[in-house]
Amino acid sequence: MSLSQRLLVMLLPTILLVVFSAAWFTYLGLAQLTRTSLQSGLEQEVGFLVRQMKEEVKYSHSALARFLSSAQSIRYLNALDYDELNTDEFTRYTHEMDLHRIAGRLQRSQPNISLIAITTKALQTKLVVGGQDPFSGLTVPNWLKKHLLNTQSAVANSPSGMNLLYRDNNGEIKFALARAVSSHLLLGDTSIANDPDYFFGIIIADVTSIKDTLPKLKQRYEQLSIDISVSSDASFDTSEAKITSHWRDATLVIKIEHALMQAKIELETAKVSAITDLQQQVALSALALALLTFLLISLIIQKQVLAPIQGVLADINSSKTSETLSLRYKNSRNEVAQLNNGYLELFDLLYEQAETDSLTGLSNRQSFHQQLQRHIARASQEGSTSALLYIDLDNFKRVNDHYGHNEGDRLLQLFAAKLVNTVRPNDTVVKRDQRHVSRLAGDEFAVILNNLRSPEIAAKVAQRILDILKNGIEVNGHNHPVHASIGIALIPQDGESLESILNHADAAMYQAKKRGRNRFQLFNEDIARAMRERAMIEDTLELSLQEQTFQLVYQPVIDADTLQTVGFEVLIRCPALQSKGIGPDRFIPIAESCGLIKRIDMWVLERAISKLEQLQTRHQFNGSIAVNVSAMELQNDQFPQQLKALFGKYHVQAKYLELEITETSLVDINEKTLLALNKLKALGLRLSLDDFGTGYTAFNQLMSFPVDILKIDRSFVQAIGEATDNSMIDIIFTLIEHYQLEVIAEGIETELQANYLRQLGCKKMQGYLFSQPLPENAIEAWLENHFKRLEA
Ligand code: C2E
Ligand code: CA
Ligand code: CA
Repeated sequence: MSLSQRLLVMLLPTILLVVFSAAWFTYLGLAQLTRTSLQSGLEQEVGFLVRQMKEEVKYSHSALARFLSSAQSIRYLNALDYDELNTDEFTRYTHEMDLHRIAGRLQRSQPNISLIAITTKALQTKLVVGGQDPFSGLTVPNWLKKHLLNTQSAVANSPSGMNLLYRDNNGEIKFALARAVSSHLLLGDTSIANDPDYFFGIIIADVTSIKDTLPKLKQRYEQLSIDISVSSDASFDTSEAKITSHWRDATLVIKIEHALMQAKIELETAKVSAITDLQQQVALSALALALLTFLLISLIIQKQVLAPIQGVLADINSSKTSETLSLRYKNSRNEVAQLNNGYLELFDLLYEQAETDSLTGLSNRQSFHQQLQRHIARASQEGSTSALLYIDLDNFKRVNDHYGHNEGDRLLQLFAAKLVNTVRPNDTVVKRDQRHVSRLAGDEFAVILNNLRSPEIAAKVAQRILDILKNGIEVNGHNHPVHASIGIALIPQDGESLESILNHADAAMYQAKKRGRNRFQLFNEDIARAMRERAMIEDTLELSLQEQTFQLVYQPVIDADTLQTVGFEVLIRCPALQSKGIGPDRFIPIAESCGLIKRIDMWVLERAISKLEQLQTRHQFNGSIAVNVSAMELQNDQFPQQLKALFGKYHVQAKYLELEITETSLVDINEKTLLALNKLKALGLRLSLDDFGTGYTAFNQLMSFPVDILKIDRSFVQAIGEATDNSMIDIIFTLIEHYQLEVIAEGIETELQANYLRQLGCKKMQGYLFSQPLPENAIEAWLENHFKRLEA
């Protein structure tokens, strides 16, 4: 999971958790606050309601008192006392009209008064007034009358009368007030109880406060339930109502307790919109806050942490594909800068270790390959031209052999330093540019030149490199005549893959060597053709080995005096190549360089030894057989063992076998090859130094070689009679005589040559004068005529 994904996965839940728990506590607090404010609000309203009720009761009291103590009422009561009203219709009418007027006035100021009545002590209604219509048929409810009858004396005894709340037929709560009254006592005088004929004044009023306020409350507080029960008992005082409130879970319960009524008001706050809205609001704000916080934090982390890391990553990635390193040292102390710098330091360290050649400080082979690969890619992208210079030092091995490895190493270091200076561009010297100069192995170097304007520039640089070595290189006071051979391949003209460029530069370098060293060679069509031919030869050799189509021919070796055959030299033929005019002098060196030679040598040896056994058993042949082997066999530890096995297998004595090794291949002879030669000799066979005279071996050195026979090279024989003086061959024979070595002269084509050699004391001869190399099936016929068993 990437860091940004991780950020998303971890940050969001964390923020949600934190914000929502905070929101939960906030909600709890706010809900509590809301509830308390609901409670106090409702308590206030209820208190207000109760006060209003009290006022109303008070107004009703004073209204009844005003009504009853008015002169008209007293007059009316007085008239009642004296029964005037029953006797005098007019008086009654005037009195009643007066009272109607007063009642009307009262009702106008207090519209809730629905009825004012005067009854006798026995509750016989004398007068009912109320409303504008005197004939509206208002009556005092019978149950009230009954109630008054039952509580008659209590009413009379109470100075303020009896108060009662009740529900009328419609369920509406009404207030009733009754008090005793008489025409000759002051209102509220309790001695009225002793009066035999007093009256009751009754007032009935709507309780407006309940009627109006309750629906309003209900509207304001949804979820409000109000339960009012009026007490059936009347009360004689209007003492204070008791208001209490408490919580039952989330329900607010307010109770009003009064002598006239009990009310229970419940508010289920959980369902109150103020609270449910609060829940929603808090949840929504929490969500918004969480998202905002998340966005903000991610933005900060993205900008401050991830982006710098991603920047470093991008630099690292682009550095992988481009030639130049996109990472730069950062001048900051933060962790990302430290990471960046640490990476660079580590990179530099590893780069130093992995890409440089520790001896010269140049790039090593691996780094060189990467470089080259990049140049190839760039050449194809940009259409530019680069050149690969493949440099091989000539004669370097001699420095190592004669002056020791330390001196050799020092020489390489000096050369490397000069090489860098020679190819370095004149302008800025960047450390990385050294990568264009590499040491590939031992004394092999490579230089890559980029953006070449023309191939001539590569040639010029190559010449400058050759000039470094013009006067040799001086190390520790010794001047070493070391030179270079340089092969040049152009990119992309001379190849578009790493392998082909390397091969072509290498081939050009070999061409330079072949042309005499101390020179450079541009890869060209001739070299390309030679390479193609070489590849064809390799393929043919491989195939010939697999299909066993090689053939052997045998060239007789002749005794100079008797002209009898004393041996044969075995020579290989490859018919598939022969038809193209390619003989062993061409294909054997190729077999050597591509590693096929070991298998070829073993094939020839086995074939030759089995032939020798055949000749020995069938023809009592006791001459020798000479087989050419590559000097590479001297590096092959298994070779002596393999040979021995062949002798055993074919029951042939080793002494009949001569192994021919060319002198030139022994030029660089060392202890290891000497040991190998001795091991071979120890098998009992004889060693012959082929092409003697071409290798310029110092004669005294030659004597330390465990060789038995020298084969004088054909070139010396051919010179006999052609050149004016034969001094070379004369000298060779003088020396041979001195060291008492056996000599075979080969390539004798004329009697003149044969006679001259005879006269020099040459005992064995070989050449077309005597016989061409014979095919296998011609040997036996040859032996019939040219072989006499030799004395032991
Ligand atoms: P070499 O060992 O010096 O072989 C002698 C070469 O001289 C042979 O060439 C032979 O055919 C040729 N020759 C002999 N007499 C005359 C003559 O009178 N006049 C002229 N002009 N040439 C004469 P060939 O067979 O082409 O072999 C060339 C070289 O290939 C050999 O040189 C040897 O170095 C190598 N070679 C041949 N056969 C083998 C083999 O089986 N194994 C290995 N390792 N090398 C072989
Ligand atoms: Ca030979
Ligand atoms: Ca030879």
